Amino acid sequence: SEVLRLDGVAKTYGLGGPAPVEVLRGLDLSVARGEVVALVAPSGAGKSTLLHIAGLLDQPTSGRVILGGRDMTGLSDQARTEARRSDLGFVYQFHHLLPEFSAHENIVLPQLANGVPAQAAAARASDLLDRVGLGHRAAHRPAELSGGEQQRVAFCRALANEPALLLADEPTGNLDPETAERVFDLLMSLVRETGLAALLATHNHDLAARMDRVVHLTQIG
Ligand code: ADP
Ligand code: ADP
Repeated sequence: SEVLRLDGVAKTYGLGGPAPVEVLRGLDLSVARGEVVALVAPSGAGKSTLLHIAGLLDQPTSGRVILGGRDMTGLSDQARTEARRSDLGFVYQFHHLLPEFSAHENIVLPQLANGVPAQAAAARASDLLDRVGLGHRAAHRPAELSGGEQQRVAFCRALANEPALLLADEPTGNLDPETAERVFDLLMSLVRETGLAALLATHNHDLAARMDRVVHLTQIG
């Protein structure tokens, strides 16, 4: 079953202005449940644009974004925000954890925002931290954790609301190669275990080759 489908997606920035930039044209992309898709693109080819559109943060100029069988294209901002919270998980190159909160709290908070009761949210956060080998780090703030540990917490946060689709932009891009490899393996096993779908942008061809499928974006503008 399809978790995400992009149907003829086009994106042109500055449409109607003096210098429009055409970034995406007629893009069709489908990600099935349990599938891990690598998105490989040279800088400037539209990787961020595509992730923003798939993540419901930006609208395509034309075409459709279908998430879990539901056409998201015409929906209100509020409906899109709700879908982001409940159906999507995001991981970035830099973890973007809240610095004043502990690892555990960083995983609890998005669940509370999604309406999960406090006790269930706390239990799930503990379970996720245990699964990435960071149970003993639950009370630590991001600054007290290594880069690889911070990124593991960021994965836990992204998975906190049991999203159908994980979107990641260079999730191991700021880690040294050995740590990146370990963190990537862990991400893959979490994704496999939970059966969710993932679209992971990476410059790393070795990592891309270990995913189920590679989608290459080329520069058209
Ligand atoms: P990537 O993530 O692959 O480096 P982006 O999706 O960020 O590429 O950008 C693709 C192209 O679109 C680039 O040429 C960039 O300059 C242009 N672009 C991105 N955002 C905007 C914007 N808001 N307005 C105009 N051009 C943009
Ligand atoms: P709110 O601030 O009310 O939570 P947002 O629309 O800012 O609403 O965020 C909703 C969800 O979208 C959050 O889970 C957030 O992590 C995610 N989000 C917001 N901005 C971005 C962004 N630039 N890139 C990726 N995800 C984002």
